Amino acid sequence: MDEFERAVEDIFTALNGKMERDWIRKELRRWIAVYGLPLIEAKRGVISKYGGDTSSLSGVFRKINELKPGEGRVDLRAKVISISSKERNVDGMRKIMYYGILGDETGTVPFTAWVLDVELRKGDCIEIKNAYTREWQGHVKLVIGNNTKVSLLPPNSVEVKMESKPAKIVELHPKMGLVEVVGKVLHVEKREVEVDGVTREIYSGVLGDETGEIPFTSWDIEVKKGNVLKISGAYVSTFLGMPQLVFDSRATIEKVEKEIEVKEIPIQIESLEGKGGFNVLIEGVVIDIKSGSGLIYRCPQCGRVLKSSICPVHGKVTPEPDLRIKAIIDDGTGAVMAIFNREQTEKILGMTLDETINKVRENLGNPSVIQEIVEGKMIARPMQLRGDVMNDEKYGLRMLVKEFEFLNLEYIAQKAEKMLEEMGW
Ligand SMILES: [Zn+2]
Repeated sequence: MDEFERAVEDIFTALNGKMERDWIRKELRRWIAVYGLPLIEAKRGVISKYGGDTSSLSGVFRKINELKPGEGRVDLRAKVISISSKERNVDGMRKIMYYGILGDETGTVPFTAWVLDVELRKGDCIEIKNAYTREWQGHVKLVIGNNTKVSLLPPNSVEVKMESKPAKIVELHPKMGLVEVVGKVLHVEKREVEVDGVTREIYSGVLGDETGEIPFTSWDIEVKKGNVLKISGAYVSTFLGMPQLVFDSRATIEKVEKEIEVKEIPIQIESLEGKGGFNVLIEGVVIDIKSGSGLIYRCPQCGRVLKSSICPVHGKVTPEPDLRIKAIIDDGTGAVMAIFNREQTEKILGMTLDETINKVRENLGNPSVIQEIVEGKMIARPMQLRGDVMNDEKYGLRMLVKEFEFLNLEYIAQKAEKMLEEMGW
């Protein structure tokens, strides 16, 4: 019996045989065609319209590979492949949001949850009732909402089809599900941690391919520097506002005899949106210098930037001078706020911290004179920057600059020419 016929039987039973099967078939097809509903929803619709009881429906558990965006009342049995949490501000209240990946024998799906009836851990098998689905970047996401019920099933009662999606490092995103990545181990360190009384080995480092780099954490699987690995069944989590690749003994790891050139080409800022990136190279033009750049004063105890000698936490303090720049870099696809530290700011200004303090003194104590010098030196200039880009829900993309270089206009002109050539001009 196929899925459709099974639905016909369910309706027949739920309506206590009041309607003929042929009539049910026609009605069910009509609901699917006219309302564009998935079979399961059409089935519920027909039953409730003709006075049947939908709560008694059996066998309504869905399979992950048949989920479509925009469905309500989704019941599912699944295994928790990964789970993480983060704090979010909702209407001024700090709320914990959970997110991760669920799997069953047909595939995997990312999920988010605001409330969980039970504390979930990786590997738990669960029954979910009354969840719903949303679209996320062209994929289905399962949402566990306020009216969703989650309960634990016996261990290993759900089998999981580990189906990985091949991806380049630049594409990796925490909401992707399981991925397959080919990359070179650029750096690795081993350490041991105790988890539930068991000592486990963790290898953490950096993996690179021709599109970029990503930090990784490998549980119990030894990873050697210089190896090119094909890792299937890994997932992407978030660490310090940047994506991180995580895998363990359930992943398949193959050594690949192939050289990978970890390229130094700048990536588009657009590709960092909503996720950040580790050690990325970007090129763009400085379009703005944010206030609070130049000479600033910090609380000596907590490092907060102060406008007076009163720290909101430490009271009256003797603020310490510091230099920094917050510059907005735009590459035509998006923008990041690049943050330069004292040493980098001194280099850009061509002045030491002491010289800036003297300069401000000469200008009757007005520190905005330094910000003006920064603006004069940076605005409208093209730059190449390398650093870690953190994604912050409130402030957007922020890069802690590791290396920077001003590009000359000649270089930009050459690049534009090359681009036009490639486009056939
Ligand atoms: Zn303080």
